[in-house]
Amino acid sequence: MARWDNRRRSDNVERRAGQAVGAGAIFMLIRFIFSKFGIVGVAVVVAGYFGLKQIGIDPLQLLAGGSPTQSTEVGDGQYDDEILAVVASTEDIWARVFREEGLNGGIYPAPKVVIFSGAVSTACGTAPSSVGPFYCPGDRKVYFDTIFFKELETRFNAGGDFPRAYVIAHEVGHHVQTVVGISDQVRSAQGRMGQSESNQMQVRMELQADCLAGLWANGERRQALEPGDIEEALTAAAAIGDDTLQRRSGGTIKPETFTHGTSEQRKRWFYRGFDAGSFGACDTFQVPYSQL
Ligand SMILES: [Zn+2]
Repeated sequence: MARWDNRRRSDNVERRAGQAVGAGAIFMLIRFIFSKFGIVGVAVVVAGYFGLKQIGIDPLQLLAGGSPTQSTEVGDGQYDDEILAVVASTEDIWARVFREEGLNGGIYPAPKVVIFSGAVSTACGTAPSSVGPFYCPGDRKVYFDTIFFKELETRFNAGGDFPRAYVIAHEVGHHVQTVVGISDQVRSAQGRMGQSESNQMQVRMELQADCLAGLWANGERRQALEPGDIEEALTAAAAIGDDTLQRRSGGTIKPETFTHGTSEQRKRWFYRGFDAGSFGACDTFQVPYSQL
């Protein structure tokens, strides 16, 4: 954390603790109870709801798949400050790259970042607490659940603080793909493809996001980067490669179902972005699939 201490914090981060079920769902539920049990049924449920609230349990959060204890992690989150600093760093570096390389007319519109615990509702649907980090092109927001960062350390053995920064940079990479129009092109191409071809396109997308994370790391090479960081990031990239995840889950490895690329590919594309430090070096769509 020390490295991010004196760095700018992003203003584009919002926290959502224990996100509950949407208002529409609550209305439907009340209408259902009313139709079955009348006004007495509604009264019993409402009384029960506030009763549970009194003793510190949010029933809506339970319904949404969260657990009551998770809501405390955001706000006093041990990674919050670091996340704000890394997000700010991606804003600065991508603003420069967009300007220098003339992407999107030289303008980088930074994404909003949501740190959540419990479930979260997005323009891409409701996500459970255990979903892991993701980017929603529909609302141009990056979502991080605090539990994932802990898992990154414990379950995936990706120690150190740099893997967290790498994961943030990867998701911001998906935002960059959306801003420059790559995501839309890929989605419309996927609409005309069969499943395995469509998965290959997804792998190209993911490896490009890894390469863009590497490009971000290149921008930090004179500031935040410390010896060993790239190895740490590569270990993280390797730990969350599709083949590793499939192996850990006990399944046999099926390359046609890969949607993130192998661990080796993820490492290599991250390093390519880091090495080259230019957007053009990250064109995973121009390389034959077998040579990715
Ligand atoms: Zn991704």
